[in-house]
Amino acid sequence: MPPKNVIVIVGTTGVGKSQFSIELAKRYNGEIINADSMQMYRDIPVITNKHPLDEREGIPHHVMNHTNWDEEYFIHRFEKEAREKIQEIHERGKIPIVVGGTHYYLNSLLLKDKTIKTNENMEEEQDSATRLTEQQKQILNGSPDLVYDTLAKEDPKIAGKFHPNDTRRVKRALEIIYLTNKKTSDHYSSQQEVSSQQSSLKFNTLFFWVYADKPVLDKRLDTRVDSMLKTGGMQEIKDLYSHYKTLTPLPDCERGVWQVIGFKEFLPWLTSSEPTDSQLHSSVESMKARTRQYAKKQIKWIKGSLAVDLQRESKFGYPNGGRLYVLNATDLEQWQSNVFERGSEITEEFLDDKSTIPQAPLGLEELLPSTEDVKADKESEWKHIECDICRNSDDSKLILIGEQQYKIHLSSKRHRSNLNRGKRKREPLYFVINPSRLTSVSNNPPPLMQPPGQAITSTKSQAVGLATTTASSGGCSVFSVDLPAMPLLLLLLAIPDPTLTFPEGFNFLTRF
Ligand SMILES: [Zn+2]
Repeated sequence: MPPKNVIVIVGTTGVGKSQFSIELAKRYNGEIINADSMQMYRDIPVITNKHPLDEREGIPHHVMNHTNWDEEYFIHRFEKEAREKIQEIHERGKIPIVVGGTHYYLNSLLLKDKTIKTNENMEEEQDSATRLTEQQKQILNGSPDLVYDTLAKEDPKIAGKFHPNDTRRVKRALEIIYLTNKKTSDHYSSQQEVSSQQSSLKFNTLFFWVYADKPVLDKRLDTRVDSMLKTGGMQEIKDLYSHYKTLTPLPDCERGVWQVIGFKEFLPWLTSSEPTDSQLHSSVESMKARTRQYAKKQIKWIKGSLAVDLQRESKFGYPNGGRLYVLNATDLEQWQSNVFERGSEITEEFLDDKSTIPQAPLGLEELLPSTEDVKADKESEWKHIECDICRNSDDSKLILIGEQQYKIHLSSKRHRSNLNRGKRKREPLYFVINPSRLTSVSNNPPPLMQPPGQAITSTKSQAVGLATTTASSGGCSVFSVDLPAMPLLLLLLAIPDPTLTFPEGFNFLTRF
């Protein structure tokens, strides 16, 4: 039996995916499956962006709003629930429309072997914690350097695939080795074999990317945060906090519902004994900054990963669909024609098993990968190449993964401007802040600071939005700042905080 139809809508937060999904569902007899991990949690509809009930026009929404705050939703549960819903919707003779969201959720639901499953029995990720030895746990919870070095020893080949600072993936790769006693690169090899022979799509899938140009989107996201807070979002954050403070130990803001954008950002204000307007203002600014960062990450995944994976389907002749179509939602006045009508035409062709419409509208062709990009993720590319000219802000060598990335780097603005600067050495600005006080989530004083780590004033936390983290260790982060953002940053940081004690080698502002 040929695989059944599934429509997938991806795009950043705040771009109108939900609205489009309702329009499509109404027209083509669809039901919606949520693939956004935060929308799994009960209530708090505003800060998790759940499409308002009264705007759903009777279209059923599945896999949503069903997880208690004290539970942690996880990927295998999503895969199971979403797969069951897809089947049920097909049995009703309707089309499932998956809207999201969280990229590894989509990978695991739609593509074969995209998520490395370490063990069939490993239903729950939490399980893994109980199956590791104390020593393994200690290494995994150790410094990023330790984790990377251990991985490089255990499986040098896979270590070449990851940047040493890509701590999350490095850690995951090492964890897999510990759990399976098998090198991670072996898992990859068997995946590569599969993917070189056949379509990796589990369903006959049509992908839509609802896209908006960054400057327009950023502005829209900022406005959206303001309106969210005014229309119930603030109350939701307070409700979450009321529950949060009853828990011992206090939950980790990197897990479960506590990761929702907005909560961590408001903690300094919520926990303050004398909350000030400036704290409140800086929480709002942090929430905006994190929303924009999240959107940026989502685009990076669609462009760099999903689009590339799907491009491979062309070589099999798209037996299971897999074309990614861009819909331009930059100009909301053109929504009807650019998003809805174009999307409808594409859907009709898809249902008729035709494809004559270009995947990207005029002017946005660059968003989709070229054949060059598709070659990039080969095993032969799993090697580190250092740039002779550019350095990281901690003065370590800049590492690129594979020839392709290196080539892209050579034509990047950063590399070219460093090249033009010639021998004049770039002077990055370093400063250390204590994010645990910004977020009040860590109970441990950061190791780089003399305990007790002192609070940073709220104005300074705004600076974080301007900077890029270059290294972090035990709750203490080093940020680097690009020159254009420097004047504003200096202004924010101009007043040193005398209560702050820094370890040797780090001053509040230190130039190297
Ligand atoms: Zn360079």
